[in-house]
Amino acid sequence: MHIIFQCPVCGRQSMSAPQSPQAAVGCECGWSRNEGAGDFAGGSLSRCRICGCEDLWRQKDFPPALGLFFVAMGIILSSVAWSKHEPALALGILMGFALLDMLLYTFMGDMLVCYRCRARHRKTAMDDHHPKFDLEVAERYRQQERRSQEKAGSQPSER
Ligand SMILES: [Zn+2]
Ligand SMILES: [Zn+2]
Repeated sequence: MHIIFQCPVCGRQSMSAPQSPQAAVGCECGWSRNEGAGDFAGGSLSRCRICGCEDLWRQKDFPPALGLFFVAMGIILSSVAWSKHEPALALGILMGFALLDMLLYTFMGDMLVCYRCRARHRKTAMDDHHPKFDLEVAERYRQQERRSQEKAGSQPSER
């Protein structure tokens, strides 16, 4: 498992790759959390390994920037072919990149993202029916965060 998270203590973007799925996770600054056994239910990850939040959404572990890059490359290369009067090649290139994009998307695994702290759990065991992103749940966490910021006396961030 790989977890990409923002450390709750030092605030740095950090990555943790625990020895076993249930082993402790931690940051270079010394923060660590060792509640792995409780984070799994029936072998699937059911809680955020960073903050213990039970709401996680499932999404493709596929960086959107990479998908955009393929689309852009396809367009650039096919317009080169088009300008050299090779319409069949231009079309082939476009279709090739679209196919590559689709294949990658299909074969990349899923990851689980925490609604509360946004930690990303990659290469983890998960329930096949784990729900995808839900706007209502996200909104609930957003408001909770705002309330706790107000309580802490700091201004809510404008986003
Ligand atoms: Zn830290
Ligand atoms: Zn979390």
